[in-house]
Amino acid sequence: MGKRRTTVTIILLAILLLGTTGLALFTQRRVADCAYVPLLAGELLPNAGLAPGDSPGMPQGWGRGANGVELQGAGKGFDYDGDSRALQLIGIGNYVQTPPIGVRPGASYCFAGRALTDSDKHSTTRLRVVFAWRDAQGQPLGEDRSDWQPVVLWQPSAPPADWSRIRAAFMAPDGAATLLIRLQPASDDRVYLDAMHVRRGGDGANETHLAPSPRPSVPPSVAIQPWPNGYRAALSFSFDWETTMGGLIHSRSLASDDPNNADDPRARGLRMREGITTTLELFQPYDIRATYYATGYNFLGGNPEKQTFMDDPTFAWANKDNGWKSDWSQRPWFSTDPHSSIQSDPDYYFADLTGLLQRDRQDIQSHTFSHLYGGYASPQEWRADLQSWRAVAAERVVPMARSLAFPWSSSAGMSDDSWRELEAAGITSVTRTNWSQPAYRLADRSGWRCLPVPGHETILACPDFYLIAGRITPPGAKVAQMHAGGGPDEAIRQIDQAIAQRGMIDIWAHTEEATAPAQIADWQAVVGYAARQRDTGTLWIAPLAEIADWQQALRELTVQSSEFKVEDAQAPLKFTVTNGSAHDLNGLTLDLPFETARYTLGSKELKTQNSKPWPEPGRRLKTLVIDMRAGTTLEVQAWPA
Ligand SMILES: [Zn+2]
Repeated sequence: MGKRRTTVTIILLAILLLGTTGLALFTQRRVADCAYVPLLAGELLPNAGLAPGDSPGMPQGWGRGANGVELQGAGKGFDYDGDSRALQLIGIGNYVQTPPIGVRPGASYCFAGRALTDSDKHSTTRLRVVFAWRDAQGQPLGEDRSDWQPVVLWQPSAPPADWSRIRAAFMAPDGAATLLIRLQPASDDRVYLDAMHVRRGGDGANETHLAPSPRPSVPPSVAIQPWPNGYRAALSFSFDWETTMGGLIHSRSLASDDPNNADDPRARGLRMREGITTTLELFQPYDIRATYYATGYNFLGGNPEKQTFMDDPTFAWANKDNGWKSDWSQRPWFSTDPHSSIQSDPDYYFADLTGLLQRDRQDIQSHTFSHLYGGYASPQEWRADLQSWRAVAAERVVPMARSLAFPWSSSAGMSDDSWRELEAAGITSVTRTNWSQPAYRLADRSGWRCLPVPGHETILACPDFYLIAGRITPPGAKVAQMHAGGGPDEAIRQIDQAIAQRGMIDIWAHTEEATAPAQIADWQAVVGYAARQRDTGTLWIAPLAEIADWQQALRELTVQSSEFKVEDAQAPLKFTVTNGSAHDLNGLTLDLPFETARYTLGSKELKTQNSKPWPEPGRRLKTLVIDMRAGTTLEVQAWPA
């Protein structure tokens, strides 16, 4: 309350000093700035003081996405405004939510708060403010989102001069009765929030994040199908593929991550090698391209010259407390390298196998060079890892990775700077993201879609399902929402669900898990089922990176009506399609509002997927399939049949 009394005194002094005109300007600026002004811009946020409530660790009336949000203060954590209370927020899939705020349509509302991170990776981070509007019945009316705003880093040796200001202002839409404000982080760095206020105003501030969020430009009459060539869903098969030097010698003891963790690492390395032959045989009859997520030693033909990688790191975090079966925190990570050849240690070096994959046009992507733990590794360790992977892959003429499978599903704990390293290295899709803790959840297993990583939207996080060959699904089991894994029956149900949702799923295992005859039989059942769905035009099967590319490119596709006159029933529907992305969209599928027997693309004759410039005589189409190069615009005209 001390601060407020000071504010009132300052304003009273301002009245004396400036007179009424000056006061008007002064208060106008404060309202525009989302600052407190008596009578004009009072506090609208219930329990802005964060007084504790009924649920333990939470202020009364406030909400959260998951565990990881809790009250701090009284000697624990940080406090900005001197009331011994602040809110901690942890988890990129998490958020803090204010109590409901009463609003009036057409009025402008602003949020102002303070934030700071004490990231253990010494990373700054960012927050986004989301205004979620509700009508009088509590039904959602849409959301407005601010830009990502920087959150300053606190370190004991270098405390910042001040906490970061987090702000947003939007106008209440028609019908709005209440507002919920959510704060979302762009990483798993721990954030503290305090001095949060909601007031009228904020509309005069000259800030970009006041702009309304863009609305889709697609006219309702033309719909874009989610996948190419009219396929209803997308499927990728992928393998985590590592030599003994990956997660095998550096084994962790969690059976949910790794059911074979009790086996001899070197026997597993040999099985990982054997799994290339067996999985290629699985896909050859169907001409299916899968993804092989490889570690760095997969590209080595040996190491007799005792070359070191990533400056020969020792990972201080790889200790028993963090789940490793033996302590690696004092031992160089690559110290078990036999410094020999494929002939003497075929479980350590796999360079002879990359050619087999390339021959079959299989996709080779990154399982990290070192099989590090993503959430423990520092941004510098990530950078060294990504660079080393690229260097050894290039020696086998494997392009730089665009897709990454987190070792041990270890995305939880990723700092904002670590995600930036992935972005800078050109990674555009990730999988094997944390699935067991909601606060860290990135992929959408309920919508069967790849989702943009918050704050790092050039990267999509794609849902996956762990096919554990030999596992029997209990009768009556629900379709697993998370990638806990299951047997072939469950994998087939996952494919059916993806089709029902018009979504995507990645079905994966380690190559070592498709080597025994019974395992191969289980895989054959799933691959055969998928191939039949593909051959009936239902399922698109492609490497995960290509599926993510498609989804990402569709986000940059716009359709605009150039002319649509409803008066004349025989007038053509005219619209332009723009592929604003960097990827060709071959087989782009458009649903028209009517059946057509005649259509044109630009001034040229159509090149459709079936290479027919016109529908066959007497044939009517409601769906157009077109090829669109990256960065091009096409004008489409279609006449009602
Ligand atoms: Zn692995």
